[in-house]
Amino acid sequence: MSFARVAIIGLGLLGGSIGLAVRESLAGCTTTGFDADPDVRRRAGVRGLVSRVCDSAAEAVADAELVIFCVPVGAMEQAAREIADVLPTDAIVSDVGSSKAAVGEALKKALPGATVIPAHPVAGTERSGPDAGFAHLFRQRWCILTPVEGTDPAALARLSAFWEALGAKVELMDAAHHDLVLAVTSHIPHLIAYTIVGTASDLEGVTRSEVIKYSAGGFRDFTRIAASDPTMWRDVFLTNREAVLEMLGRFTEDLTALQRAIRERNGDALFDLFTRTRDIRRSIVEQGQDDARPDFGRGDHDG
Ligand code: NAP
Repeated sequence: MSFARVAIIGLGLLGGSIGLAVRESLAGCTTTGFDADPDVRRRAGVRGLVSRVCDSAAEAVADAELVIFCVPVGAMEQAAREIADVLPTDAIVSDVGSSKAAVGEALKKALPGATVIPAHPVAGTERSGPDAGFAHLFRQRWCILTPVEGTDPAALARLSAFWEALGAKVELMDAAHHDLVLAVTSHIPHLIAYTIVGTASDLEGVTRSEVIKYSAGGFRDFTRIAASDPTMWRDVFLTNREAVLEMLGRFTEDLTALQRAIRERNGDALFDLFTRTRDIRRSIVEQGQDDARPDFGRGDHDG
């Protein structure tokens, strides 16, 4: 069921973590890896992120059974084109991109005829690069696979088993639905964090040192999210445009309602909302997606 040879394209946080997790959890599986950045390739070699670091994507995928693209979503199509001529015909192609409909289309377009099963491990941190990865990143995290109609069930079962071997819990979802769900659980929260941190840094009348000094009052948790990789997040918003805009519309309406409640001194409305949101937090902790310690969120399980 499992794979003997896995090629990882992009050796940053996600690619590096997959390489380390395979080494730890899948005895007998060899990994090859390539990254466009020579410095990243060098660090990947030093850290042993994959069994063999290659000088080209073509070399990395030459005899791979599974190829996983771990590059920013805007770079997926170009990265896939680089292996189009050498991809083994029976290889399964997947990725870890944070938006799924656009990436699925990009991979299909670049690799016509290939078995493509897009995936998104909902696991990550605000750090990026080859030194950020760690073997247990995926443990107890969801990995969402977005097969299309007609996807080979055997290939789907193999890919699911691969992610489960790395410690993830696998869920199947339609790509468009994935994009809507992740817009509200991940993309909009990042947009809000980027906005708040941007607003605070542009404020007149409140000094930058005051913002930093008193950050424990909530701001600090936003700065962690707002420290996430700019390339990755630019690409997420550009590729999941429609779902994000739809959710942003809903969010803006709710914000306006909250603004009215404050203006009208409607304490009941505020209290009701804050009670409901507290319950959501409780459910997240109960379902093991976070812990209740006061340093929540500064651990290693966001994305
Ligand atoms: P990362 O740490 O920045 O690593 C991505 C690496 O891919 C970089 O070293 C980049 O090099 C390289 N790259 C770019 N284009 C390439 C190409 N054509 N061929 C080979 N390598 C190429 O990013 P990451 O956090 O691992 O994210 C990778 C993917 O995972 C993204 O699609 C993201 O949406 C998804 N994801 C991220 C998280 C998270 O929390 N970070 C969580 C779940 C999913 P350059 O820097 O030189 O461009």
